[in-house]
Amino acid sequence: MLFVECALCPRWNFSKESISELVKRIPANLLPVSVPVLCSVEQAEKSLAPLKGKEFDSILVFACGVGAQVVSETLGGRVIPLLDTKQISKKNLGKLEEYCEGCDNCNIHETAGICVKTRCPKHLLNGPCESILEGGMCEAKPEMKCVWVSVYEKMKRENRLSDFVKVREK
Ligand code: SF4
Ligand code: SF4
Repeated sequence: MLFVECALCPRWNFSKESISELVKRIPANLLPVSVPVLCSVEQAEKSLAPLKGKEFDSILVFACGVGAQVVSETLGGRVIPLLDTKQISKKNLGKLEEYCEGCDNCNIHETAGICVKTRCPKHLLNGPCESILEGGMCEAKPEMKCVWVSVYEKMKRENRLSDFVKVREK
C-alpha cells in the first residue's frame, strides 16, 4: 500500500497535531511519499517516477481532489482520497472561512473586492436582503456582519457609492 501526501495544502489546512494523529494511524507496511505540490504534474511526475510500474493494493492520497486525480493519472492503480475537498478559504488564527467558490466569472471589482457570491449565505448579487438584522448583522448567520454592509462601508470609504446601487446580473 502506498501513501502519497501533498506537502502544500493539507499542511496548510490541518494542524500539525491532526496530521501527526493521521500519520500514527498509517499501517507500518505503508510506503509514504511526499510530493511538494501535487497539483503540479511536473512535480508529481518527478517525485513519483521511482514508483512507476510498481503495483500497490491501494494508494492513499492526502491531498485535494485535484492532487488525488494527478496521482491516479501518474501511477494508475486504486487511488483512495483521504480528504473531502470542500472550499477555497482564507485561514485566520486557525479558522477557515470560505472566500471563493470558483465560479469562473470573477467580478469582485463590482463589489468592493468582496465576493458576495460566496460570502453572502444567500449568494445575493444585489443585497442586502430584507431580513438583515439590526446593527447590520446577517440574518442567516447572526454571528457575522452582513457582507453587503461590508461592501457598502468599503465603497463609502472609497467614494464609490454610486457603484453600490448598480444592478449586478451574474
Ligand atoms: S466572484 Fe467570487 S466565486 Fe467567483 S471567482 Fe471571484 S471570488 Fe471566486
Ligand atoms: S443579511 Fe446580508 S449577508 Fe446575510 S443573507 Fe442577507 S444579504 Fe446575505
